[in-house]
Amino acid sequence: MKTTVTKNSKINEVNFNDLGFGKIFTDHMLVANYQDGNWQEVEIKPFENITLSPAANCLHYGQEIFEGLKAHYHNTGKISIFRPNENWHRFNHSAQRLAMPTVPRSIFIDGMIELIKIDQQWVPKKPGSSLYIRPFMFSTDSVLRVSASTRFTFIIILSPSGDYFSNPQPLNIIANPEYSRAVKGGVGSCKNAGNYAATLYPNQLIQQKGFQQILWLNPIDNNTIQEVGMMNIFFYIDGELVTPSKKEETILDGVTRKSVLTLAQSLQITCAERDITIEEVFNCYEQGKLREIFGTGTAAVVLNVGSLSFSNKTIHLNPEKYELAPQLKNLLLDIQYGRKEDNYNWLQFIN
Ligand SMILES: *Cc1c(COP(=O)(O)O)cnc(C)c1O
Repeated sequence: MKTTVTKNSKINEVNFNDLGFGKIFTDHMLVANYQDGNWQEVEIKPFENITLSPAANCLHYGQEIFEGLKAHYHNTGKISIFRPNENWHRFNHSAQRLAMPTVPRSIFIDGMIELIKIDQQWVPKKPGSSLYIRPFMFSTDSVLRVSASTRFTFIIILSPSGDYFSNPQPLNIIANPEYSRAVKGGVGSCKNAGNYAATLYPNQLIQQKGFQQILWLNPIDNNTIQEVGMMNIFFYIDGELVTPSKKEETILDGVTRKSVLTLAQSLQITCAERDITIEEVFNCYEQGKLREIFGTGTAAVVLNVGSLSFSNKTIHLNPEKYELAPQLKNLLLDIQYGRKEDNYNWLQFIN
């Protein structure tokens, strides 16, 4: 790995008490280029702007994928990354679907570790804060014909982030069948840029009406639930924790989703990955069986849902009385920050 260390660190200009989320970037980045069927030399260098041909394929046809994960200061004083292998596998799943080359472990994981080592003083120490890691890849052929590119750039950037969700307000969510996110055979299971661009307009519409996130439904039946905003969704019904199945590849296979399922099972909670419809959720609510609804994702970990609207009906829940969601959130955070033993080998230590 060719490494060029900056002579002008920006770290003294940063107020670590007011980081926000994804706004500040560390001194360095990792860059690897793919051409002629091979990954070229990997470089760690000062964070800087990149140059692209105005005809670069990614700017016109959206061949772009990304990942998001976090590193934390552990109780022992070491820095750990949470389940990076999962993100590496998911990145390569997205890459295949978008006709992009897969990225080897030596670049994705080893490169990430090397980069964090160089920028380790940027990992925030305040409880609840973390270093957000953003790997991404885009196509760079400069040809306007619509075709899969042959040249790509893979980059990792790092962003020290505060406890953005330290005092999160419960979400008011709405299922609006006029818009959809994913359908069988599409790219719902990929973290490709276009998926997110397509949700911005429907999000603006629901936010004007006082909702924060959209509950996405399968557009074929306008009934089967997929996920909420950029999070996976869970329903705690009558002692059973239910989350939509990923078998049709219309939802993102969340690392937090997977971890929450494992932790719930460790609490002897019955878990089910299966189809669940909006109709079933409303029926359970009317029968008094619906206890909790929450979303999961790397940024927020676990976020409670306070209300769910569909058509002219609304479910109102009281997240202050939730028991399972906060328990699962604390268990996961305790493992990430080293307050509880990591029995699952989820933490990848970097030093
Ligand atoms: C990233 C993402 C998630 C959550 O995945 P995590 O691995 O838990 O962060 C869920 N849904 C969508 C659409 C996402 O992009």
